[in-house]
Amino acid sequence: VAAVASVPAQAGDNPTYTNPNAPIDVRVNDLLHRMTLAEKIGQMDQISVVRMQGDCQWSGGDFTDSCMKSVLVDNAAGSVLSGGGAGPAVNTPENWAKMVNAVQKYAVTNSRLHIPVLYGVDAVHGHNNVLGATIFPQEIGMGSTWDASLAGAAGAATARAVAATGIDWNFAPVTDIARDQRWGRYYETYGEDPLLSGTLAASAVKGIQGADGAKKVAATVKHFAGYGEPGNGHDRVPGDVSIRYLQDTLLPSYKQAIDAGAKTVMVNSGAINGVPATGSRYLLTTVLRKQFGFQGVVVSDWQDVRALQTSYHVAADYPEAIAKAVNAGLDMAMEPYDAQGWSDGLKTAVDRGLVSVQRIDQSVARILTLKFQLGLFEHPYVDASKADAAVLGADTTLARQAADESQVLLRNDGNVLPVSSSAKKIVVAGSYADDINDQLGGWTVGWQGVPDGVQAPGTTVLQGIKAAAPSGTQVVQAKTADDAVAQAKDADLTVVVVGEKAAAEGAADSPRPELSADQQALVKSLKATGKPVVTVVIAGRPLVLGDADGTQGLLMSWLPGSEGGKAVADVLFGAVNPSGRLSASWPKDIGNEPLYYQQLPGTNGGPESSYDAAYPFGAGLSYTTYTFASIKAASATARAKDTIHLSVGVSNSGSRAGDLVVPVYVSQPSSDVLSPSRKLVAFARVHLDAGQSRTVALDVPPSRLAVTPGDIDGSAPQAVASGDYVFTAGTQTTTVTVH
Ligand code: BGC
Repeated sequence: VAAVASVPAQAGDNPTYTNPNAPIDVRVNDLLHRMTLAEKIGQMDQISVVRMQGDCQWSGGDFTDSCMKSVLVDNAAGSVLSGGGAGPAVNTPENWAKMVNAVQKYAVTNSRLHIPVLYGVDAVHGHNNVLGATIFPQEIGMGSTWDASLAGAAGAATARAVAATGIDWNFAPVTDIARDQRWGRYYETYGEDPLLSGTLAASAVKGIQGADGAKKVAATVKHFAGYGEPGNGHDRVPGDVSIRYLQDTLLPSYKQAIDAGAKTVMVNSGAINGVPATGSRYLLTTVLRKQFGFQGVVVSDWQDVRALQTSYHVAADYPEAIAKAVNAGLDMAMEPYDAQGWSDGLKTAVDRGLVSVQRIDQSVARILTLKFQLGLFEHPYVDASKADAAVLGADTTLARQAADESQVLLRNDGNVLPVSSSAKKIVVAGSYADDINDQLGGWTVGWQGVPDGVQAPGTTVLQGIKAAAPSGTQVVQAKTADDAVAQAKDADLTVVVVGEKAAAEGAADSPRPELSADQQALVKSLKATGKPVVTVVIAGRPLVLGDADGTQGLLMSWLPGSEGGKAVADVLFGAVNPSGRLSASWPKDIGNEPLYYQQLPGTNGGPESSYDAAYPFGAGLSYTTYTFASIKAASATARAKDTIHLSVGVSNSGSRAGDLVVPVYVSQPSSDVLSPSRKLVAFARVHLDAGQSRTVALDVPPSRLAVTPGDIDGSAPQAVASGDYVFTAGTQTTTVTVH
């Protein structure tokens, strides 16, 4: 193992790597040749700022040696993160910017080669780390918009806020597909469908990385791969999937987002088929680098390199764990417990001949390339005095649009909605009607959601209804169940707002994702009044409704963000024509889990063995009437390598303008391997004025029809099989024969 000699930068020296006009690969090469092995090892290390601050919490000024030296100088860490919040002193955008500037200043000033750090956060629904930031719907709600351009705009808005606080790396979007609602991170995904998830994630990547903010921001496709497949529904437990399911169902969403140019990928914390993803050369090199052609930075998830030794027991000691991850293809370890341990561990792995310096050089080159691409050497700092203005109150119109589009109206018996303008009295009941923190969900200000004792700004459902109600309509909040039933008896309408508590990761796992007994009882007694009831659900997953099912109105609001209360009111009073469509199947019973619409056929199993959702994937009503009039293919035959061009005729035959989601599903009357009765292969979201008709052009590239052929060994590459493909839009179908 030949170490590259280090050439220190001299005073008065003008190293090529500092020249902004030199090509990035030349700068990287120059810098790499000046670095010691210890400095290279440090670049591959990402340390939590909370750990660095230790007992000297950031208090407004520069950081001192006692906080930073060990991490940023002695161990030359290349990256810093704030996972799930940064602590009480860092509560405003300006303080965030000052704190990040202070970290950056310490690194740039004191590291031998003046290399800036990459600073990462989880800004997964707006810049949710900051108290007072505009909060977008969680991804599961964004999924229900089916609006790729909106996902891009939300990504860009988020990146502008992130950049204004000095941060250059956003660990978003979550690109896993989720099919088991017991899993606590269900709400962090765009839902159960690979194409819907991949399309929105790809757009979010472009939005985040293309944002015109105070800095450039890198996006992260996470958690590669198959993190949404925890075997028993609990976070980070191993998943067992066939190679066919992995290739045809789990990998495509990541591929789409990587193809959109994502600069970084975060690894699945779990294990797939008996191999922890962090140590899987198959996932991190064969698939990610060779098949997908990914050239950016691969970061582990939280403390996962050490987990190869301590949790998974696939390495005898820490150097072996590090070697396994690095040789699998990992570039950076997120929170390897402590910087010194990482430095010693990787150095030992090199000394033992387990990891080559060439392999380290490869990772460091990728990390430095990212730093140069982001412009960090030229612009390591932001103007903190501009952060508050850039973040507070920013993009609320966009966040409201996102919340509006994410509302899914599932029942509207007797047109109970929109609320009649002659309504005299509306009762608002339920414990989620006026709780902003639960409405925002996990990953808001704190990791598990807004910490106790802190109230995040935003509009609750109650506040939204009060503000939007016509002057002649009295809005009464019923704070207890008895009160609600008494009040409902002479009300024109009761809106009962139910849901689940904010939480994140394992704490959000639930063996029973259903409405709590007291909430079911409340809705049941409201139904018994015989008066109209609309149920609004504030939750990150469909909750089995039980006794609460069957109210005249049912609105799935998801976790709609800081503008969510206004969005609910927009739909209830009809200012907005609801347009969201379920990104997740709604089970009738917990025993249905995992539940998803792409079920494969079987031969027995009883009445619920096939797909039998309370509300299926794609469900959603509006206040107008849409017709799918036709679907046509440009040609009735195609070759396997052809893109199939479809056109779908749609019209709005009702009396209100609205947005219509146009999905096209495919099925195969006969196929070599099992195929689901429907699979989404294209979609669009279009606006239709009352009475308007449109023809929507939709393309189906071959990748959306390709599946792993052959027997259960799954060793054959994906291909588009010959045969008939039936494309369906609404009630209309057309068949294309692939030769
Ligand atoms: C989560 C990641 C997140 C990271 C940093 C982990 O626990 O799994 O999604 O990016 O923490 O906060």
